[in-house]
Amino acid sequence: MSAHANMPNMNVNLDELIRLRHWLHMHPEVSRHETKTAKHVREYLEKHATPDEIIFLAGAGFAAVYNGKEPGKTVLIRAELDALPIHEINDDIPYRSKFDGVGHKCGHDGHMTILAGLAQIYAKERPQSGRIVLLYQPDEETGTGARECSRHPNFQKIKPDFAFSLHNFPDFPKHQILCKTGTFTSSVRFMAIRLTGKESHSAMPETGANPSLAIAEITLLSQEVQAQFDTPEEYALVVPIHFQMGISSSGVSPGYGEAHYTIRSCRDETVDKIWDTFSKKAQEIAERHKLKIELEVLEDFAANFNDAEVVEMVEKAAKENGFNYTQLEKPFRGGEDFGEILKQHKGAMFGLGAGENRPNLHNPDYDFPDEIITTGIKMFKHMIEQALASNEGTLTKAA
Ligand SMILES: [Zn+2]
Repeated sequence: MSAHANMPNMNVNLDELIRLRHWLHMHPEVSRHETKTAKHVREYLEKHATPDEIIFLAGAGFAAVYNGKEPGKTVLIRAELDALPIHEINDDIPYRSKFDGVGHKCGHDGHMTILAGLAQIYAKERPQSGRIVLLYQPDEETGTGARECSRHPNFQKIKPDFAFSLHNFPDFPKHQILCKTGTFTSSVRFMAIRLTGKESHSAMPETGANPSLAIAEITLLSQEVQAQFDTPEEYALVVPIHFQMGISSSGVSPGYGEAHYTIRSCRDETVDKIWDTFSKKAQEIAERHKLKIELEVLEDFAANFNDAEVVEMVEKAAKENGFNYTQLEKPFRGGEDFGEILKQHKGAMFGLGAGENRPNLHNPDYDFPDEIITTGIKMFKHMIEQALASNEGTLTKAA
């Protein structure tokens, strides 16, 4: 069967792309450990879709550059290299993860493959003008990869005029395109509160400082702060996630406790405000209980804030390719670190339906559907053509 048959004018070898996706699925690596994944993709590109340049970025990250015949706009397309610390339970697939406890459960294997399809196209036929940069970014799941790549000195060689990315979304029909102007994925912050008091005999707790009441008050506070910022226009969530304190069945009244919360809202500014309010009041509570308080941001995902004009490009690409287009009313509540790149560069992230009635992202039986690889390629190709043809001045936002 020829894979070319279902992709007229696309110059893509789909069989080869599916083989690549299955190899990546079989060899998943978690954030900060994606060296073999990055090496495999690089070798694939060098062998089957030779780029003009490889730019090394933070961690295992790199970008493959395809230059047009004449200078013009630079368009960056992003995919993620990392898998998750989730054990794959799909025993029925021949390309099941070889590594216990690690699986491609967010479909990043599919995203990488879509970019490899673009590489096939542009390696064979360079664009008339401009530059296409395929960014293979590490550490998305920890919320650090996009930030570190975009701050890496070598990122200066890229200077994108446009930045695009997609994420697959189960729960939506396959090939459906989802987008919206403004926030597409939420601003998310994981915070830890550490309270240090003093151990004591549990027969004489008054001689120590036990953090339990402070943790209880701070947890009630989290709901108060959530209510304060939760509005019909912009939602807010402050969710208790993890607690740790004391030793079971002991006569010791603990002197240390830890409480973790996640904060979510539509905009980074709102999450900042929630964080300020929450941490100030938590400090007061700690003082009242004679505890030392330490606050730490464990992970931080900037909202993906989509540019209105680029969202029009997404819609046009969907409609002209014959895909169903849905304008979302509300952003997704999840975080996705591409938002860091959209803070600096004009662009958008869109969703690609991965099929209803199937496992969801981060489920142990999730597997990216191969049928939507070509949908992703067609979408990006159309958007790249629109971006390269745009004759606006430099579109890089001021930092
Ligand atoms: Zn993901």
